[in-house]
Amino acid sequence: MQIETIEPIVLESAIGTVSLPGGKAAFDATVTPVVAKVHTDEGVVGLGETYLDDPSGHKALTAAKGMEALGHELEGKDPREVTARWHEMYVHVKREGSYRAMSAIDEALWDILGKETGKPVYELLGGAVGEVKAYATFPLSKPAEQLIDDARWLADKGFPTMKIVAGHGVQNDRERIRTVAENIPDEIGLAIDSNTTYTVQDAMKVGETASEHGLEWFEEPVSHTNIQGQAQLNRDLSVPISAYQNHVAHYPAVDHLEANALEIYQPALDYCGGITAAARVGTMIEPYDKQLVPHAFGPVINYSASLHVAAASPACSLIEFGVYSDEIDDPGEYIASPYVANQSDVHVRDGGVIEPPDAPGLGLELDDEMVAEYRLN
Ligand SMILES: [Mg+2]
Repeated sequence: MQIETIEPIVLESAIGTVSLPGGKAAFDATVTPVVAKVHTDEGVVGLGETYLDDPSGHKALTAAKGMEALGHELEGKDPREVTARWHEMYVHVKREGSYRAMSAIDEALWDILGKETGKPVYELLGGAVGEVKAYATFPLSKPAEQLIDDARWLADKGFPTMKIVAGHGVQNDRERIRTVAENIPDEIGLAIDSNTTYTVQDAMKVGETASEHGLEWFEEPVSHTNIQGQAQLNRDLSVPISAYQNHVAHYPAVDHLEANALEIYQPALDYCGGITAAARVGTMIEPYDKQLVPHAFGPVINYSASLHVAAASPACSLIEFGVYSDEIDDPGEYIASPYVANQSDVHVRDGGVIEPPDAPGLGLELDDEMVAEYRLN
């Protein structure tokens, strides 16, 4: 089997703009998906996906160009030799390419291998191990009182944890943590994400309040480059420190492990190098008793890839799930990807458990009419 072409498909956001509040971390996220459709000479087609925060579509088109460029390197080669193809892509990407393009293509190669062998990707990775629950990322700009109301709704679904955005300044964050943590139902935990906002000193202050209230984790407290700072927080605070969504490939996990910088590793499959890289992060951290909790915001093809890795990793029992609207009946419903015919196959069950689709490969198929409606390129 040979790769014939790699077709990038840039799509308009289906969920619109989601406002993330606060301090240096304030931004509006507009999820623009870019699908890598890998065509083979035997008619098997693989799908992978990356996405950008990009209302203009310009950055998404750059990722699409990156897919075309890598496509020229991969044409004529066997898509089933995923490891070999990953390392060939890495040689190009580490100096001059798009990690987003590489990540989507890696996912598509795994999709092809699964379709060719008739197995879902998690089986190719060694099979499911244990149960994975979804935690709710609730990226809505709301006052604490409303978040408390929403927590009941999320707890009733079975989400074990809800994550809210921090980074509003030390005093604001401390008050918000106290108010929310003291008033949400006992059965749901709270995590905060400050998206690399703080200095170590300020993160220590926010982290002390997070520790007092038994928060599940403090995500990206400081710059992702500040490994020693994260290690200091991880050592001095009882709240677990998490990060890794801004790192590429599995190699930087070595430095984090040596510094004992993180309790929770959150590789983003759409950026870190796809299934291959994220699964390797899981393998590297497992002997250190660290947890893999994939960063998995955004559209469903990449989300499914993340679920397959989560299901097959002994270091993983939790994965992110974006709840983008408070106007839907079921917060466990997938709504970000109407251009995927069976996005509803990915959903959080009552009780909070989530599983990858059981069909071969990643288990998802495009809806061609909807693709035409959303397509930007
Ligand atoms: Mg984050």
